[in-house]
Amino acid sequence: MSVCTLTRTRCCCCTALECCSTTMAAASLSVDLDFTRRLPKIELHAHLTGSISRACLHDIWMSQKRQQPDLAIEDPLVAIPSGKVDYDVQTFFPLFSSYIYKLCNDVASIEFSTTAVLHEFQSDGVVYLELRTTPRAIAEHNISKDDYVRTVTHLLTAHNEDTSNTMRVFLILSVDRRNTLAEADEVIDLAIKYRSSGVVGVDLCGNPAKGDVRTFTTAFSRAKAVGLNITVHFAETAASATDQELHTLLSWQPDRLGHVIHVKDEFRAMIEARNIAVELCLSCNVHAKLITGTYSDHHFGMWRHSSVPVVLCTDDVGVFCSPLSAEYHLAATNFDLDRRQLKQLAERAISCIFMGSTEGGRLRNIYSTWEV
Ligand SMILES: [Zn+2]
Repeated sequence: MSVCTLTRTRCCCCTALECCSTTMAAASLSVDLDFTRRLPKIELHAHLTGSISRACLHDIWMSQKRQQPDLAIEDPLVAIPSGKVDYDVQTFFPLFSSYIYKLCNDVASIEFSTTAVLHEFQSDGVVYLELRTTPRAIAEHNISKDDYVRTVTHLLTAHNEDTSNTMRVFLILSVDRRNTLAEADEVIDLAIKYRSSGVVGVDLCGNPAKGDVRTFTTAFSRAKAVGLNITVHFAETAASATDQELHTLLSWQPDRLGHVIHVKDEFRAMIEARNIAVELCLSCNVHAKLITGTYSDHHFGMWRHSSVPVVLCTDDVGVFCSPLSAEYHLAATNFDLDRRQLKQLAERAISCIFMGSTEGGRLRNIYSTWEV
């Protein structure tokens, strides 16, 4: 470690003044979308079905329409018009239950859409991805929840085994807030069964206006006991941010928290004291009006000055149309982050991944040789 005479600060990355000035010059270059696309990124909060692009949904619809000319499902490009991103809590969940799930309802469409989602994240410069999905049984096609999870894990494994791919992907299985305890237990059982096939954790998601999270305490305790990682959607709306709910969720000892919007100082202090990572989704929160105001008002501005790891995530890029590179660009422009700060932000997510040391080492190597 040396003292850089240019900055008069200790430099931990080099021993030469020349290196420091080069790094400073690079960091002072403007942050544009080309930079945020090239930046290696780690995505930890992305719902598989919500990440399917409209173009991909349209391709699936075209294929099904060819096979069934009387298909009674509207063209995705009509049902979800290009440019429409203002889905809120009232319109977001029905979009899935009454439309996207009906379209992606057989093995072919699940395989096609999952493969497309992986390709799009990788093309955006994502080097590590944890996708999450709620196991779905599709009776009309004789698909069980087990079949669904097996189909998705096969695709993820094939992706990871292809050495030409620059991104590695793992799976989180979600419990939906509308589930019964028996259904939640089924999700935990599937997560345990498919652990050796790339399932790294479990999640609690779904409409924040529904359900009582206390229903699931024994299921998540069991997940924790067997060593599965836990992330939960946390304080997404005022309705899902009662003291009782947040105390219950924290009692599950989650490893990460998603959204973390409606938190009082008391809970903020608990999150900091336990150093729980937060998964923050700028565009989703703004477009869905989960926060008041716009990007510059987002609680990223508060959490980034806290001691906990902060990870930028997309949530549902297929719905909100902002890939992870765009989220980094939004963070840079609204919170005045330079190239070096964006790289530090991206790199810090390594400490929050559920896959552990093997992937951590690979990712540290990527960042150690990547220059801003
Ligand atoms: Zn989410």
